[in-house]
Amino acid sequence: MPKQPSSNPGYEERISHNGHRLTPQRREVYEVLLAERDHPTATEVFLRAKKKIPGISLATVYNCLETLVDCGLARQVNVDREATRYCPNLNAHGHFICERCGKVLDVPLAKGALSGQLWQLPKHFTVSQTEVTIRGLCPGCDT
Ligand SMILES: [Zn+2]
Ligand SMILES: [Zn+2]
Repeated sequence: MPKQPSSNPGYEERISHNGHRLTPQRREVYEVLLAERDHPTATEVFLRAKKKIPGISLATVYNCLETLVDCGLARQVNVDREATRYCPNLNAHGHFICERCGKVLDVPLAKGALSGQLWQLPKHFTVSQTEVTIRGLCPGCDT
């Protein structure tokens, strides 16, 4: 069933503008990311994508994820020394990591949190990227 990822129309153009082709595997990997926003690792994406494309390999999934990150359609999320996770949410957001269940949840950020306005940087430092990671207990665990 060819359904368009609703949250991001124009993603096909975005991939081709970056000199990549939207192969069926890339589309499938992207749809896996969009389907369940739980920040899966490459292995988890692989297991989900395999249900649709039985012949897909883990190497192909890694490759597809790399392309999506290249095109700005997904970003990598690193939690401690765990395997890299992937997030297709393109809105400014931080990641809340639950210390009990291990879930990685998207949380909205106050204006200015990503532009460096909240940090007291010494002069002559320019912020190009800010990642916000918050730890604690998610609503399901905070009982
Ligand atoms: Zn995220
Ligand atoms: Zn939790």
